[in-house]
Amino acid sequence: MDIYLDFRKGGTFSCPLCGTSGCKVHDSTMKSWRHMNLFQYKAYLHARLPRVDCPSHGIHTAKVPWLGRVAALPCFLRPSPCP
Ligand SMILES: [Zn+2]
Repeated sequence: MDIYLDFRKGGTFSCPLCGTSGCKVHDSTMKSWRHMNLFQYKAYLHARLPRVDCPSHGIHTAKVPWLGRVAALPCFLRPSPCP
């Protein structure tokens, strides 16, 4: 089972280094994580992560709000990076 997460076209994000909000998306990278099985099926999360262009710090991968929530999950619910 594959679950895809994405952001809205034209969306803006905060710089991960200084927190400046409203940074435009420069490009994006795809990341995948193994999630706990859903029923008997292997589950994978696939997300397009935005890389923002901060006027002060240049291009960096933005922090997306749900990644912090994933880290807060108990181990048995936490997706792990795909091998
Ligand atoms: Zn910055």
